[in-house]
Amino acid sequence: MNKTVINQLLRIVGKGHVLWSPEDLAAYSYDGTFAEFRPGLVVLPGTTAEVSEVVKVAAAERIPIVTRGMGSGLAAGSVPAQSDSMVVCLTRLNRILELDLENAVVHAEAGVVTADLQAEVEKVGLFYPPDPSSIRHSTLGGNIACNAGGPRCLKYGVTGDYVLGLTVVLADGQVLKTGGKPIKDVTGYDLNGLFAGSEGTLGIITESLLRLIARPRFARTLLAEYDSLANASQTVNAILTAGIVPATLEIMDQTAIVCIEEAMHLGLPVDAEASLLIETDGADAETVQREIDAVALICRSNGARAVKAANDEAERASLWKARRSISPSLARKAPNKLGEDITVPRSAIPEVVMRLRAISEKYGLPIVIFGHAGDGNLHPNILFDKRDAKQWHKVEAMVSEIFAASLAVGGTLSGEHGIGVLKRPYLERALGPLSIAVQRGIKQSLDPGNLLNPGKMFEG
Ligand SMILES: Cc1cc2nc3c(=O)[nH]c(=O)nc-3n(C[C@H](O)[C@H](O)[C@H](O)COP(=O)(O)OP(=O)(O)OC[C@H]3O[C@@H](n4cnc5c(N)ncnc54)[C@H](O)[C@@H]3O)c2cc1C
Repeated sequence: MNKTVINQLLRIVGKGHVLWSPEDLAAYSYDGTFAEFRPGLVVLPGTTAEVSEVVKVAAAERIPIVTRGMGSGLAAGSVPAQSDSMVVCLTRLNRILELDLENAVVHAEAGVVTADLQAEVEKVGLFYPPDPSSIRHSTLGGNIACNAGGPRCLKYGVTGDYVLGLTVVLADGQVLKTGGKPIKDVTGYDLNGLFAGSEGTLGIITESLLRLIARPRFARTLLAEYDSLANASQTVNAILTAGIVPATLEIMDQTAIVCIEEAMHLGLPVDAEASLLIETDGADAETVQREIDAVALICRSNGARAVKAANDEAERASLWKARRSISPSLARKAPNKLGEDITVPRSAIPEVVMRLRAISEKYGLPIVIFGHAGDGNLHPNILFDKRDAKQWHKVEAMVSEIFAASLAVGGTLSGEHGIGVLKRPYLERALGPLSIAVQRGIKQSLDPGNLLNPGKMFEG
C-alpha cells in the first residue's frame, strides 16, 4: 500500500492503528471458515468520525474496503477478495453510549461484543434476546450485518427485529442515520431492514439503537429422545400448533449426539435417532412450568421414548453444554467440517433430512445434522479432510446438492450466516434473475464504485 495513503490514515486514526506487517495482515486474512486471503492494509478506527474520514481516503484512492467485526463469520464475508483491499476493523468502537431504561433502548457502537451488551443490560433487568452461539466472539455490527440468529429466535426473532436505528458510513464517507427510538416507524423505506443482512456491501454500520425487553425470570428445559427422526420433527409442529412457543426448540441427529457424547461424556442417548432440546421461559414460574409439562406430554404422544426435564440449574446447564459442544465435538471426528445453514418450511424437515442422508451415502462422507428445528433452520455439517483432494471435490459437489435439496422442498440457502463468498455461486438459483437485478440496483445506487466488500454476495 502506498506510503502517502498510510500517512493519511495514520493522521486520522493514530499510531498503532494502521497495520501492514505480514504478520498483522495474516491475522486479518481469515474468518470462521477455511477461506484465506491477505488484505493490503488494516485500519482500526476508534469513532464514527474516524471511520468516515478513513472511507473518504479509500474512496479518493479507489481502495476496496472490507469491514470486519471479530471475523467469526461462516460465509467468508470478512475475508478480503482482492490483495489491494483495506480491512476496516471496528473492534475499537466498543462503547455502550446510552442505556435508556424508560424506553428500553440501548445505543451501542458496532464493535461491542454481543455477550458484553447482554450482560450489561441484564444487570438492570432488561434483555437483548439475539443469541448466536458465537455470542462471546462476535460483534453487534457483525450480527447486524449478517442478521444473526440463534436458538432463541423461534420465540424472540432475529437480530434485525431489535434494530431501531443505525449510524452507517456510506461508500463516499457520508454519515447516514436511520430510524430512532420510536418502536413504530414507517416514515420512508425500511433502511434498518436494508442494512440488516447487507454483509458489509452497502455501508459500514458504526452504531445502533437496539430494542430491549424485560428479562424472562424463569426457564424450564427438557431433552426428548426419539427412535425416529420423523417423530421428532412431527413433535415440533405439534408443539407450535398447540399454541406453545418455546424459547428454544433445537434438534440433534444421532451423529451429532454420538459426537458430543464421545467428546463430553454427558450421558446422552447415543442409540436415539434424534433428540429435541426444548426450553420454555417467561415472567411467571407457574406458566413456564405449565408450558414445559404440556410440551413433555406432546413429546410423549408424538413418539418420544424418554423425556428428561432438568430439575435444577446445574442439570439445565449440562443440557445446554451438550448443545453448545456440537461444533467443537465434530473436530474430534475429522480435521475439517463445512457447516451450512439451510432453512426449510418446518413441515419439510423429515423430507430434507432424508435427502441429506442420501447425499451423505452417495459420497461416503458423514453429514451431521443439528439446528433450530422450530425455525426449520438446519446446520448440516460435512466432515472431511481438506488435505485429501478427492474428498474436497466430493464436498464441493455435496454442498451444491445440499442447496438443491433445500430449494427443492421450498427452503432457502441461509437462515443466519449469510452469503459472503461461499454461497455466492448458488444465489441466482435461489432468488432468480429478477431479484438479483433488483438487488444489484440497490448496490449500484449506494456503492456506485463497488468499493464496499467487492466480490461478495453476487457473482461477477
Ligand atoms: C462457533 C461459531 C458459532 C456460530 N454460531 C452462530 C449462530 O448461532 N448464529 C449466527 O447467526 N451466526 C453464527 N456464527 C457466525 C458468526 O458468528 C456471525 O455471522 C456473526 O454475526 C459475525 O460477527 P463478527 O463480528 O464476527 O463479523 P465478521 O465475521 O467480522 O463479519 C461478518 C460479515 O459482516 C460484515 N460486517 C462486520 N461488521 C460490520 C459492520 N460494522 N458494518 C457492516 N458490515 C459489517 C463483514 O464485512 C462480513 O461480511 C457462528 C460462528 C462460529 C465460528
